[in-house]
Amino acid sequence: MAKNNENRANVTLKCSKCGELNYRVQKNKKNDPERMEISKFCPRCRQHTDHKETKSA
Ligand SMILES: [Zn+2]
Repeated sequence: MAKNNENRANVTLKCSKCGELNYRVQKNKKNDPERMEISKFCPRCRQHTDHKETKSA
């Protein structure tokens, strides 16, 4: 059935400092099976912080 989107997962990137959910992205489960951890700008911290993947619907 939904073959095309099988490996697409919606994930939310959460600031590891303040816990704000700043980014919603789609990742490819096949290419990125591990949890993503990216340095991104957090508007609440007003600086780049580590953002970790959390699950989202
Ligand atoms: Zn933050």
